[in-house]
Amino acid sequence: TRVLLTGGSGFIAAHVLDILLKNGHSVVTTVRSQQKADKIKEAHPTYGKDKLDFAIVEDIAKEDAFENAVKSDPPFEAVIHTASPFHYNVTDPMKDLINPAVIGTTGVLKSVKKHAPTVKKVVITSSFAAIVNPSKGNWPEHTYSEADWNPSTLEDAVKDTMNAYRVSKTLAEKSAWDFVEKESPNFKVATINPPMVYGPVVHYLNSLDALNTSNQRIRDAILGKWKEEIPPTGGFCWVDVRDVGLAHVRAMERPEADQKRFFVTAGGYSNREMVEVIRKHFPEYQDQLPGPDAPGGGYPEEGSFKFVQFYYKTFDENRGGLQALYRPQSMLTFESNAVQGT
Ligand code: NDP
Repeated sequence: TRVLLTGGSGFIAAHVLDILLKNGHSVVTTVRSQQKADKIKEAHPTYGKDKLDFAIVEDIAKEDAFENAVKSDPPFEAVIHTASPFHYNVTDPMKDLINPAVIGTTGVLKSVKKHAPTVKKVVITSSFAAIVNPSKGNWPEHTYSEADWNPSTLEDAVKDTMNAYRVSKTLAEKSAWDFVEKESPNFKVATINPPMVYGPVVHYLNSLDALNTSNQRIRDAILGKWKEEIPPTGGFCWVDVRDVGLAHVRAMERPEADQKRFFVTAGGYSNREMVEVIRKHFPEYQDQLPGPDAPGGGYPEEGSFKFVQFYYKTFDENRGGLQALYRPQSMLTFESNAVQGT
């Protein structure tokens, strides 16, 4: 399949790209600069231009950002849209998060409809952020699934900038399903909704400061930033980036995934457990880690929400996401959203 992958320089996209290439697909990926394209190219020296090529899209918040990128010869048959800002350094929620998320998503869909009639499937990286209901807090009696929607509105993003990222993902996913309903495009949509994603960093980083948001926790723990107190966990739910990558590619390849959202979860975790996993498997970081008496980072007393399990893997098996411990992920299927045991 000839695929357009947006945001190829990102943490998750790098895994999506690896799997696409391994599965024999032909990929054009969008990046913001030629330097970023060069780094991706260097990481995949054996693939020629016919298998891996690039399109520069500097800012997905511009309405017509994808007008040229969706045009290709041979023409695209599928699109995987991962590009969207994920960070909490917000000064202007609209400019920093909402516009790139929402206009980025509608922009891709509009341009595909207009210029790429051969595209049959668009897979969009949404998030647990578009599922969770922040006003319910820990909500121990609730089990989150694909049926849940974050009810937050634009006002919630402006009121509380910590919330702006979640709102950006919610409005972006909603805008995609609205587009499908109103525009009846020629293509089907599927969304992948991961909770916190951890795992091997395979994309180019020019410094540890450039590490993507979810993995910053592991970095901060091993740099000694949690020594006095472990920060609150927030989501209590995680997934392995290799499985998130695979979920995108499977959703693209399989018609069973059409018009569905997939809450791809591996298991529950707390920041305190993360510290213990690092301590067990990486004793060299012992001195930087918080001691057993350090406060914080545990589960709330009343318990936390439950979630449907997409497949099962303990955080320990992931070794804290610090090492590329690759296991075949044949258990990840789309036959059911329920558990596929390992
Ligand atoms: P990264 O920050 O590594 O990736 C984000 C990607 O989006 C990068 O390629 C980035 O480009 C690109 N991007 C951001 N803003 C713009 C813009 N204005 N114009 C063009 N490109 C832009 O993070 P992840 O890989 O984690 O995120 C990928 C997707 O996964 C996002 O949609 C995110 O919301 C979603 N997600 C992530 C989770 C996680 O825990 N990591 C959990 C749930 C969902 P550049 O590299 O040039 O900055």
